[in-house]
Amino acid sequence: MVKIVACLVFSILVNLFLIINNYVGAQWTLSRGWSSRAAAEAEAVAEISCSGHGIAYLDGLIGDGNEPVCECNTCYTGPDCSHFIPHCTVNADGGDPLFLEPFWMHHSTSSALVVSGWNRMSYTYTDNTFFSQQLESLIHKLHAFVGNAITRNRYIVFGAGSTQVLNAAAYALSLQNTSSQSPTRVVASIPYYSLYKNQMEYFNPEKFKFEGDAYTWQNRSDGSANVIEFVTAPNNPDGRLSKAILDGPNVKTIHDRAYYWPHFTPIPAPADEDLMVFTLSKLTGHAGSRFGWAVIKDETVFNRMVTHMQINSMGVSKDAQFRAFKLLKTILEEGTGIFDFAYQTMKSRWERLTATLSSSDRLSLQKINPQYCSFYNEVRDFSPAYAWLKCEREEDKDCYAVLKSANIIGRQGNVFGSEDHYVRLSLIRSQDDFDILIERLQKLLVSEEDGAKTM
Ligand code: PMP
Repeated sequence: MVKIVACLVFSILVNLFLIINNYVGAQWTLSRGWSSRAAAEAEAVAEISCSGHGIAYLDGLIGDGNEPVCECNTCYTGPDCSHFIPHCTVNADGGDPLFLEPFWMHHSTSSALVVSGWNRMSYTYTDNTFFSQQLESLIHKLHAFVGNAITRNRYIVFGAGSTQVLNAAAYALSLQNTSSQSPTRVVASIPYYSLYKNQMEYFNPEKFKFEGDAYTWQNRSDGSANVIEFVTAPNNPDGRLSKAILDGPNVKTIHDRAYYWPHFTPIPAPADEDLMVFTLSKLTGHAGSRFGWAVIKDETVFNRMVTHMQINSMGVSKDAQFRAFKLLKTILEEGTGIFDFAYQTMKSRWERLTATLSSSDRLSLQKINPQYCSFYNEVRDFSPAYAWLKCEREEDKDCYAVLKSANIIGRQGNVFGSEDHYVRLSLIRSQDDFDILIERLQKLLVSEEDGAKTM
């Protein structure tokens, strides 16, 4: 009898527990709201270990069971990317800024976004514009904090990466002197970033003519023809803080300031040019978000660029603007955090590269002197995004091929309007890419020494 009563009491208690647990559990899930499932999915995929040589993404590769799997860095393979491929070719081409990935890994919490299905579905914001006022105000704050550009009383336009902004700027400036029948001439000083040439030749060859080197146009007065000069400062590929070469009533200048951050250069003073272009890609490393902006003095140029954005893409993705907003907010909360990390990383990479090549008379690098940096209030070394490597031997006319034979892929000098004695190597890629690049260069120089000894 006692046993039966005990069983009954026990079963009542268990049922009571299950009922309460069910109710409270449901309440608890509810109180975590609609983001809990997405958060759990994001956390679960972040837990997948890829040995530090890869990442699994929610929208990435999947395994047989539909589960996310590791996407490995170049030269690594295997289910957890732990297997190194010994003689693989290292990629030192392209401008993918993955050197900032570790910074964001350490700032997962402050940079995470939650996006609901109903978030910002409209083409425009409620003020009927394509551009977020909140984001614009963060951009002003960021430039004021870094001191790399004057943005007070300036207009700001957003674009899908600075790639779209640069194109919009060229269109807007080409309309400045409409009395001229001839195409707008576009120049840049060698070595130049090839996108300017590609855009002009691809989009509207009747309207624009890429003329190449700005220096050859220095003392040429060519009547009423419009000229647009692209000035890239710091320059891609060689990191120089270039200045405009041309001047005159029909000359307009677009200053591409993609790399004008303490990561890559001392900041001598805030830039204050008529039209300056910046990009999230080289600031936070989020090239994939495709977000860039222009800082513009002239209202007419601003309006023309806005019109270009409307006709070209009906504004900029609200998701990209949201992402940029969150990232810039995180940066500003962190003070000098991202700049310290980026500068230290780039500086140590540059030092490793120069040390590796120091004994070689076959390969040489660009030389840039230290300069005063107003952001750090001290003289700082340059920490360029790219190495502008020269094959010094007369017979090494194809420097790209010399490196290719050592399993290194760079970018040929001719792409930058220069000779093929030069190759650009990217220093802003992942740590793996950089480490393997150094290893491959060391091997190339050792094999060359061995070759010399046996001769
Ligand atoms: N300008 C320069 C000088 C660049 O090096 C790059 C990218 N490599 C860009 C513009 C374009 O960058 P994005 O479109 O990602 O902003």
